[in-house]
Amino acid sequence: MKNTTPIIPVSEPECQVKSWKNLLKNAITTTDALLAAVDLQANQLGYEITEDSGFSLRVPQPYIDKIKSGDPLDPLLLQVLTQKQELEEVTGYNRDPLQENNNQTPGLLHKYQGRVLLILASACAVNCRYCFRRHFPYQDQMASGDQLSQSLQYIAADTSISEVILSGGDPLMVSDRALVSLFDRLDAIPHLKRVRIHSRLPVVIPQRLTPTFVDRLSSSRLTTSMVLHINHANEIDKLLIEHLAPLRLAGIQLLNQSVLLKQVNDNLPTLKALSESLFDAGILPYYLHLLDKVAGAAHFDVSTQQAVALIQSLREQLPGYLIPRLAVEEAGKPSKTVIA
Ligand SMILES: *Cc1c(COP(=O)(O)O)cnc(C)c1O
Ligand code: SF4
Repeated sequence: MKNTTPIIPVSEPECQVKSWKNLLKNAITTTDALLAAVDLQANQLGYEITEDSGFSLRVPQPYIDKIKSGDPLDPLLLQVLTQKQELEEVTGYNRDPLQENNNQTPGLLHKYQGRVLLILASACAVNCRYCFRRHFPYQDQMASGDQLSQSLQYIAADTSISEVILSGGDPLMVSDRALVSLFDRLDAIPHLKRVRIHSRLPVVIPQRLTPTFVDRLSSSRLTTSMVLHINHANEIDKLLIEHLAPLRLAGIQLLNQSVLLKQVNDNLPTLKALSESLFDAGILPYYLHLLDKVAGAAHFDVSTQQAVALIQSLREQLPGYLIPRLAVEEAGKPSKTVIA
């Protein structure tokens, strides 16, 4: 190339960090701002909303960009807008449906053989209205500093553990610096084989998948995978696909788990489009979860019977590798229960 004008090196990691942290900081947190952003007025919705649901509204701009303007029933909007129905008390729905609020080592859940869940962060970039952890006392469950060291000691002492699952809150809420240091420590535990990251953050802020993060993941000696939490094909846009590409190139297995949600994805065309769009983006469908019966989320419930029928119809229309396992989490069981 002729043009050899020296280019002033831009500190790429630095601007990447700024961009995702800014998007996080500037997330919308009020119903007024959210409705304005999607060009709706409260009286056009056909349902009531509340500012005071006990689990705050929180949604970053890149996710808002995927919501269709002017549609009160947009499947993405329904996942983030605080409806008054959340305040209704419904029999069978309680605050800790998985009875997870009783683990011995804070920040570590060892329920399933060979796998431990490391709870890295106390919060999420988005507050999904159906979240089973909406009443979870995160502050007590955070793995940081001494707690993290304790958890890592626990993992190092138990040679039956082969996989560490980074979870939360959302594990990608922590800084790249902290993740790099954590990977250094995990790589050094000889009996570990795999590390898996469960995150919804890339779906709401794709810019979170920084080069620093992807590089550290791909240089790990452990086999790494990432389970995204995508519930609808509209959540997969160009920005997300672009930011997932480096992970795919690095050979990191991309999987997805969804929650089956009334009015959001509880019909055949939507589930079919979801599986197909996931695959186009290099992601394999893994689990489709039945809703955990958490207080405040009853309006999202889909019956088991309907869920099984949906999966059966999906199986008639798609190849086997595009069918997620329909699963439910039952307190006290040694694994998730696959029902179809
Ligand atoms: C879902 C889950 C796992 C992982 O289960 P897989 O079937 O391996 O995906 C591990 N620990 C806990 C507590 C879980 O909820
Ligand atoms: S990202 Fe997951 S853990 Fe966080 S609020 Fe949404 S459902 Fe809950």
